[in-house]
Amino acid sequence: MMMPSDVTRLVGVAREAAPRAYSPYSEFRVGAVAITPDGDEVTGVNVENAAYPSSTCAEATAIATAVAAGARKIDTVVVACIDAVDISGAYPCGRCRQIMAEFDVDSVVVTAGDGSEVRTHTFDELLPYRFG
Ligand SMILES: [Zn+2]
Repeated sequence: MMMPSDVTRLVGVAREAAPRAYSPYSEFRVGAVAITPDGDEVTGVNVENAAYPSSTCAEATAIATAVAAGARKIDTVVVACIDAVDISGAYPCGRCRQIMAEFDVDSVVVTAGDGSEVRTHTFDELLPYRFG
């Protein structure tokens, strides 16, 4: 269970990662942190491609990197869309939600813009009745 101080710090970690996004097409930079049960904090960014469908979201990058390091469960994913003007445009896409389902994510933290608004959701809120 994350404490509010942890949320604030982890939002900062995600926001620090976001400028490293490779997003020349959308100019929409996203940073994410996948937190493992061991407490590892693995960052990811969105990585776009000239062939747009070949692009990868920050959440997917973070989870894949954590899995490559040995994780088989992710407790929390923190997402920071620093270029989103409204938090409603900062939520994980459907593909990322399905990837989160695979690794049994418990909660998702979302923030946009300057990070002043932060929302924490249970994963069930984001993807009920999921395929698995
Ligand atoms: Zn996505």
